[in-house]
Amino acid sequence: MPEGHTIHRLAARHAELFAGDKVHAASPQGRFAEGAARLTGTVLEATEAYGKHLLHHHAGELTLHVHLGLYGKVTDGSGEPPEPVGQVRLRLTSDRYWLDLRGPAACEVLTPPEVAALRARLGPDPLRADADPDRAYARISRSATPLAALLLDQSVVAGTGLIFVTEALFRAGLSPTLPGRGLDRAGWDRIWADLVDLMTRAVRQGRIDTVRDEHLPEAMGRPPRVDRHGGEVYVYRRAGAPCHVCGTAVSRGALAGRNLYWCATCQPG
Ligand SMILES: [Zn+2]
Repeated sequence: MPEGHTIHRLAARHAELFAGDKVHAASPQGRFAEGAARLTGTVLEATEAYGKHLLHHHAGELTLHVHLGLYGKVTDGSGEPPEPVGQVRLRLTSDRYWLDLRGPAACEVLTPPEVAALRARLGPDPLRADADPDRAYARISRSATPLAALLLDQSVVAGTGLIFVTEALFRAGLSPTLPGRGLDRAGWDRIWADLVDLMTRAVRQGRIDTVRDEHLPEAMGRPPRVDRHGGEVYVYRRAGAPCHVCGTAVSRGALAGRNLYWCATCQPG
């Protein structure tokens, strides 16, 4: 599933292509025909990402809400759009650009109270200027749930997925199974600042890189990582490979239905 940086990149891209323009909306597949009819002919005023949720704010207090989920994909281009291929849930066009959305977990039109309800059920997003990390710590510091599960819970922190969470915990030297209430305030402040840094860099680069300069392939004389996720990381999907810091084989285990990765030496628990 795409992590928050991907959605923030999409929001910025869609603002660049469509903001201020009157758009035509259609649902070639048919499943979003009613919603598309409500949006068509309106001006797309602004776009926004909140965690893994993409919002297009249209004139007339209509907001398109998209969650890509596991399979959602967005493509775009300029000029005449191509013949729709596959299950295009939403096609948005202006005089200059087009955008196709396929396979989202959510694609719906929300009213302002519904947008407010969506925001209310999400934790602070490290990529948003209005994020309040105190809100997340209030949840974490009262909970016996393992830290990794808390950080993956979108109502605690929004936008973080498995890569950012496993990597931030490695960089903090904290075991993914540490109960939330075992994390002191200074520890939380460090994790939050690190998430802000890592995620901001990922927005800029379009991929997730988490290793410090001294552990880059060039610095260590090791081959670069080969993985469809790209990016240089410490532990994510590196089970059995040597830790870049201490050489211990990276561990993998299931927690809350997810595969977690950690170094038992650098992250004792
Ligand atoms: Zn290690």
